[in-house]
Amino acid sequence: MWHPSPNFGDRPADCAIDMLVLHYTGMPNGDMALTRMCDPASQVSAHYMVEEDGCIYQLVAESKRAWHGGRGYWRGCTDVNSRSVGIEIVNPGHEFGYRPFAVAQIDAVITLCQAILRRHNIPAHNIIAHSDMAPDRKEDPGELFPWHQLAENGIGLWPRHLDADADDKEVDPETVFDSLLQQFGYGPGQKTENRIAFQRHWHPQCLNGPANAHSIAILKNLIKQCPAL
Ligand SMILES: [Zn+2]
Repeated sequence: MWHPSPNFGDRPADCAIDMLVLHYTGMPNGDMALTRMCDPASQVSAHYMVEEDGCIYQLVAESKRAWHGGRGYWRGCTDVNSRSVGIEIVNPGHEFGYRPFAVAQIDAVITLCQAILRRHNIPAHNIIAHSDMAPDRKEDPGELFPWHQLAENGIGLWPRHLDADADDKEVDPETVFDSLLQQFGYGPGQKTENRIAFQRHWHPQCLNGPANAHSIAILKNLIKQCPAL
């Protein structure tokens, strides 16, 4: 459903769309999020918003630069908005009562992402959470988001055939983990935030614990799946 927002600009000339950023709205309900993203004073938007019942709103044309990411970093890119499509997924978020995403909503997100991936050449390692590109200030879409289910449907990276890697023993796991995180795509200089963002996306069982051998095995496995790294 087309629901235009005035909050967008032009993408730079010859700028390829090669990133996909997923968010939660983090507001009490979807109507409030839609109103905010269409209010010129808010200066925020996204290309799409997916309601809990699966209804998809389009706010900004994919050819335009929506204002969803803000300051951040992923794999050397500091202007993620110029290169990405942004999807807001309705959920009250950690501030207003974070809860599991609805089945119909995730089905709609998967269908939408698959359509976007058919239109643009977006590698799996550039399908990220808002918290991956801005780990110092964002938590969305959060540890309840079913990234595994998306990966099963061809959207994004997930560890594969982990058993052989899981025996890895590192002498200094935290240092190894930090440098691998940067190799994978996280920004420099915010080690704790990077670790939490990684766990939130790829190892949520370990969100509140330190990185362990299993976290490192997952990360190495993901890096191995990235041909360009
Ligand atoms: Zn966000």
